[in-house]
Amino acid sequence: MTVMVPSRTPALITPGRQALDSALHQLHQAAEHLGLDDGLRAMLATPRRSLTVSVPVRREDGRLDVVQGFRVQHNISRGPAKGGIRFHPSTDLDEVTALAMWMTWKCALVGIPYGGAKGGVAVDPATLTTRELERLTRRYVNEILPLIGPEKDIPAPDVGTDEQTMAWIMDTYSVNAGYSVPGVVTGKPMTLGGSLGRAGATSRGVQIAALAALGRSPEGVTVAVQGFGKVGALAAQYLADAGCTVVAVSDATGAVHASGGLDVAALRAWVAESGGVHGYRGADAMERDELVESDVDLLVPAALENVITEENAPRVRARLIVEGANGPTTPEADEILAGNGATVVPDILANAGGVIVSYLEWVQNMQAYSWSAKEVELKLRDLMESAYDEVRTLATDRGLTLRQAAHAIGVGRVADAHRMRGLYP
Ligand code: GLU
Repeated sequence: MTVMVPSRTPALITPGRQALDSALHQLHQAAEHLGLDDGLRAMLATPRRSLTVSVPVRREDGRLDVVQGFRVQHNISRGPAKGGIRFHPSTDLDEVTALAMWMTWKCALVGIPYGGAKGGVAVDPATLTTRELERLTRRYVNEILPLIGPEKDIPAPDVGTDEQTMAWIMDTYSVNAGYSVPGVVTGKPMTLGGSLGRAGATSRGVQIAALAALGRSPEGVTVAVQGFGKVGALAAQYLADAGCTVVAVSDATGAVHASGGLDVAALRAWVAESGGVHGYRGADAMERDELVESDVDLLVPAALENVITEENAPRVRARLIVEGANGPTTPEADEILAGNGATVVPDILANAGGVIVSYLEWVQNMQAYSWSAKEVELKLRDLMESAYDEVRTLATDRGLTLRQAAHAIGVGRVADAHRMRGLYP
């Protein structure tokens, strides 16, 4: 009997599968560098727990839609699982697994006592009313309830979710517990135990990483931002505030550029009013896909995975790429960029500001105490700069790219935790 093995033609590789392939490739490179044995490698390559749930949503017209939801805990050896929840139509189990794995290395790299997790619901939130979104969120949380908790697994915002979503998560969990549990989720509104500085934390971290990697005055440094959303718009603002010239930005609606520099505050106001950069009159329109090829010093991909690929990497002109998004550069593109002398500050370092301030929020919740904005910012800066210095030093000493060095540190710390704890039974 002949068994037909379906070939993995490119058309069959989903974006989620591509992200997971990238994450596994990075893990195996790090494992090679660290000399990890096959058993430990296999453990680190496999998520600890994966849950797929069906989420029925009653629509306003009475119809019932059923969407898929996921929560993956990749690793919990260094502490509770931690990671955001994404609402996006193309989310699948592979993507959520890759994102959970990146959270594990990210938390280990910046030295916060968490493992890695991620959640997702395969839905486009823009197609739902607020009440539908609330029902969807509460039902999804109800389905993943056995996994989450302030000492078990702590969700946070990601693509398509925000502080309102976090408030519904906190409420659903708390109603089930019978008392308020602010520490079950981070990225909450201030009134429910959110932290000062959390909303802009990922963008602030991107700014800190970019300025550290620039190593020179930001005056006259030109910037393009791919994804003018929650992370990208504020990163553009903070980079402009620091003296950089933001010349091009894009989002799902289009792209705009102005060689003399965009008025980022005016553009943010336009986006808040109109829903996207398209139609902004203070700049010229450009092709969205050409944004990453802009003639700039610094490129900040701040949306989704697989944006810089082997197809467009040869045309990327920026010498410095700082990843606000998770997984925006494929391993093939990484090699091309490195070959061309470009520096990539990898996602698990560049966008760690979000989870760092999530950790600070959780610590405040667990102590029932709150810190000033200044205190939060100082702690964020300290953790980001220390992690950057460690990565830079290892990369220089061992001739690694910043991504290889960041993964070697993150994966190494998780491997150490496994070795010290030993295997049960
Ligand atoms: N979603 C963010 C990330 O990818 C933040 C996660 C968190 O705060 O737990 O890092």
